[in-house]
Amino acid sequence: MKTIRYLFYICLILFFTSCKQVKTVESFKAMNTFMTVTVFSNNPKKAEQAINGLKIKVNEIEDVFSTTRENSDVYKINNGLEYGFNNEMLKEVLDFSKTIYRKSSGAFNPGMYPIIKEWGFTTEEYKVPSKTKIEELLKYTDFSKVEYSGLPEGMQLDFGAIAKGYAGDKAIEILKECGITSAILDFGGNIQTLGLKSDDSLWKVGIRNPWNNGAACALKVKETAVVTSGGYERFFEDENGNRYIHIFDPETGYPSTSDIESVTIVCPNGMYADALTTSLFVMGTKKAVNFWKENPDFDFVILTKKHELIFSRNLEQSLEPLISFDCIECISAFDL
Ligand code: AMP
Ligand code: MG
Repeated sequence: MKTIRYLFYICLILFFTSCKQVKTVESFKAMNTFMTVTVFSNNPKKAEQAINGLKIKVNEIEDVFSTTRENSDVYKINNGLEYGFNNEMLKEVLDFSKTIYRKSSGAFNPGMYPIIKEWGFTTEEYKVPSKTKIEELLKYTDFSKVEYSGLPEGMQLDFGAIAKGYAGDKAIEILKECGITSAILDFGGNIQTLGLKSDDSLWKVGIRNPWNNGAACALKVKETAVVTSGGYERFFEDENGNRYIHIFDPETGYPSTSDIESVTIVCPNGMYADALTTSLFVMGTKKAVNFWKENPDFDFVILTKKHELIFSRNLEQSLEPLISFDCIECISAFDL
């Protein structure tokens, strides 16, 4: 009897140790940003293998979309070293970008690269170009003219507003293929989750405070993408203290001066979320909210320059403000 009891306890211990979820964390630099991958698994070796596979995939994606790596597909196309879109990943992102370009009435435009470069955002040798130069370059930013066969003369592409979201989706796919069921990715502020936390609770994701250190809001989510675009991410200031941010208004060729400080999109598709953050930022709050009412297949959190917090009704239970706002507004798709 005693032996049976011992055996029972040993089995119980073995069962619980085999179920114990171990956290494996790895940080690395890719796509011009810091990335952190956290995987929960009862098999740390499997977690490590999955993360290695993920890193290879992210590097492969960077090899396609980087505007600065001299062997990347985008670099070659931008510099006339290669014609046409022959890479499947590039075609997929181009097609998706065209849809968002149309849907956002041009607020999202990966054809802005000639202008973004002129402002120095590629080299960090920042300058304010002349109005004439901007007007001249704007002629080469009609993204509707880009076809699989190649770029019209003078045009250059930059998928910086969407590629990290795409990489996040592919990274999640790799983790799933490796049998991982619980993970969270932070690709330079783009958060993507897989499954639930190891104790089956929701993930708690912070939305950065644009005015100070720390988080402005906390958001509880299941498996999804939480992507933020903020003017604070990259900018320069001229001698008069005017701030020029890295998100451009394709209508003017100048950095966006919308009323938004940051916009966060929550939806299952990371590429869609990433493209939308940039689009809604450029639109400004009023147009962004109207866009959402016409396309309510995502949720949003907008922090405005007037210290307002505006978010979609679906997030009412999951969003927690962590700082004080001058106004908090929860928008329903039916509000006028
Ligand atoms: P994000 O941080 O996702 O908003 O992406 C911003 C990056 O996308 C910038 O650093 C530029 O490389 C590029 N970009 C800037 N403005 C636009 C725009 N209106 N549409 C598409 N890409 C843009
Ligand atoms: Mg984006």
